[in-house]
Amino acid sequence: MPYKTRKPCNFPGCGTLINVGERFCAIHKREMNRRANADHYDSRWRKISKLYISKHPLCAECERAGLLTPAVEVHHVIPVAAGGSDMGKNLMALCKSCHSRISLKERQHGV
Ligand SMILES: [Zn+2]
Ligand SMILES: [Zn+2]
Repeated sequence: MPYKTRKPCNFPGCGTLINVGERFCAIHKREMNRRANADHYDSRWRKISKLYISKHPLCAECERAGLLTPAVEVHHVIPVAAGGSDMGKNLMALCKSCHSRISLKERQHGV
């Protein structure tokens, strides 16, 4: 009978015993999956937003007010969480201050 059939979960600070050959306990397996998906989304989104800004180099909000401010961030008109897409029609190139203003407004309205 081998002695070491159980070992602690690899997640820092988690001492849950798991089977040798596994890396994380059930909770942290899920957590690591979630993180991997988020990272995957982040890198895909970075690529999309960079491309979008290269095509829309000016802040859309400032432009409406007659100002020419370089866009640095891409905003989802309909938030991804609400089913918005990463496609052109749902995107808006914004400067930093417009983006934070709009994000704040959305948060206040609970969109
Ligand atoms: Zn764990
Ligand atoms: Zn702006």
